[in-house]
Amino acid sequence: MVADRVAPGTGWPGDPADARTPVARSAADVRDLACAAPSLAELTARQSVCRACPRLVEWREEVAAVRRKSFRDERYWGRPIPGWGDPAPSILIVGLAPAAHGGNRTGRIFTGDRSGDFLFASLYRCGLASRAESVRAGDGQQLIGARMVAAVRCAPPANKPAPGERDRCAPWLAAELRMVAASLRVLVCLGGFAWQALWPVLDGAGYALPRPRPAFAHGAEAELRDATGATVLLLGCYHPSQQNTFTGRVTGAMLDAVFTRARSQAAGESHSNS
Ligand code: SF4
Repeated sequence: MVADRVAPGTGWPGDPADARTPVARSAADVRDLACAAPSLAELTARQSVCRACPRLVEWREEVAAVRRKSFRDERYWGRPIPGWGDPAPSILIVGLAPAAHGGNRTGRIFTGDRSGDFLFASLYRCGLASRAESVRAGDGQQLIGARMVAAVRCAPPANKPAPGERDRCAPWLAAELRMVAASLRVLVCLGGFAWQALWPVLDGAGYALPRPRPAFAHGAEAELRDATGATVLLLGCYHPSQQNTFTGRVTGAMLDAVFTRARSQAAGESHSNS
């Protein structure tokens, strides 16, 4: 098997890790390293070198070695995609997993693919991104008051992580949620799979959740309480996949409506325990 990836600390823009960053190689390692990370910067570094899912490690590195014809002259990231954006966000945008030739190539979630083109255009219109395009790491794009994460950090074959892989990756997301909880007011879930994957992570992170779990829909809302009792609004948003955007199931106006709602909620009530 041909395998390739960017070695940590070798100059890739935004690479949070270096050669000393500890590498998780099992589910227990993920739990231990996520729980013990002393800072958000170290947590993202540890996420970005994880090797705990053999099937996903093999796939992401094989894709990075073989490459798509149109990107054959580019170096691929070939590693897990760490959380990215504002370190103290009021809005957290949650996707399911990076795309093989998008995030797995650029090293940044929703960057370098058609879904990202659609998503960042909307974020820019809504004042949550500094540019309408997100092309590559180091392109100057910045999220404004927002942060992006994937529930599963490695690109999966056919865009479908196995349930065991989703569960193995969950401690990375739970730890990131804990580290940004003080500023967080809104969670935006992109797609039903991310909605489902997020729920047990929120439960495990101490959020008080409505029961039964509300069904996912575009514009669905659920009011949560974080571990301190503060209110956090969960919003559902159709995934801006090529299939959804080509068929008109999701439009730019529909994304704008969700992110405008997220932004006004984040800017509105104080983050109180009321
Ligand atoms: S999916 Fe998550 S747990 Fe599995 S190897 Fe990637 S980063 Fe590690």
